[in-house]
Amino acid sequence: MQSAHINHLIDPSCADPHPQPADLLAWYDQHGRDLPWRLKGGRRPDPYHVWLSEIMLQQTTVAAVKPYFAAFLEAFPTVQALAAADDGLVMEMWAGLGYYARARNLLKCARVVTETYGGQFPQTASALKELPGIGDYTSAAIAAIAFNEPAAVVDGNIERVISRLYTIETPLPAAKVEIKAKVDALTPQDRPGDFAQAMMDLGATLCTPKAPKCLICCWREACAAHAIGIEERFPIKPQKKPKPVRYGTVFWIERNGQAFLIRRPERGLLGGMLALVSTDWDAEAPVPAAPCSAEWQVLPNEVKHVFTHFELRLSVWVARVDKAPPLQGEWRKMDTQLLSALPTVMKKAAKLAMTR
Ligand code: SF4
Repeated sequence: MQSAHINHLIDPSCADPHPQPADLLAWYDQHGRDLPWRLKGGRRPDPYHVWLSEIMLQQTTVAAVKPYFAAFLEAFPTVQALAAADDGLVMEMWAGLGYYARARNLLKCARVVTETYGGQFPQTASALKELPGIGDYTSAAIAAIAFNEPAAVVDGNIERVISRLYTIETPLPAAKVEIKAKVDALTPQDRPGDFAQAMMDLGATLCTPKAPKCLICCWREACAAHAIGIEERFPIKPQKKPKPVRYGTVFWIERNGQAFLIRRPERGLLGGMLALVSTDWDAEAPVPAAPCSAEWQVLPNEVKHVFTHFELRLSVWVARVDKAPPLQGEWRKMDTQLLSALPTVMKKAAKLAMTR
């Protein structure tokens, strides 16, 4: 109701009520971002590059993804090369990018594409969605960008643009259905992949969460939120609940310049990643049982790390030992290479231990 009320306030003499895809595409041709996984000028990018970048970009910034994308392409230039890779190596190369289920699904997907599809990605959003790790958004993005299917692509940037263009008053995530219908109606048959990327770029560079640059936006005259100066109100978000806190202890075990590390179980948080030996992580601080007898030192600072659904506080215990603890694990040289193979929360603990 309120949305209709707001739209009614827009003076029709100064606002084109319909955003035109052609205006956005013209802007994109001049101002779209140059990204390593993109080809501009009407050339179709390699589906492997599009898929790899889209998986990496889930919940992750472009700046964070760029070096990982380059390193993966160098190590695995084709989907077949990735399919043949060692699991542990891929997990270590993914370390620091977060959301590690993505890396496990990346390998599974590369293997399905190689073994079932002869190394060629399927070309429709519906077929792509059957592959491991590919959901609604990613299947639409790959189908549009790599195969020119006019699929409606909606990421966080696009949600912001659309909710402002149409002053969508429904809070997220309930607004997603309405937003997707708007994107569907806007997506042109011609250049749908460029249109999706243009929408992403508009959201990332002009239609930013704070202080959007409406005066140079090609859709300003069609934008309902801009017409009445309430751009930053959108998208409407639900109230944030405070995250629960969990507690645990990690054990830094060293011998002759090497640290003892384990690989976490495949299932669960940080599954398959290299890690310090750890207790479970619970709402109550567990009574830590050290993995071996030694002169343990408890570091004065704890590690704090925020996951999607909870905040973690880890106490760090360190000890020098003569022999390996009775656990399956491996000794790794204590250097920067070790740090870069660890997921961020473990890297924080390792850094505390190495600089104590
Ligand atoms: S006019 Fe402003 S709020 Fe509207 S789409 Fe453009 S940048 Fe976003």
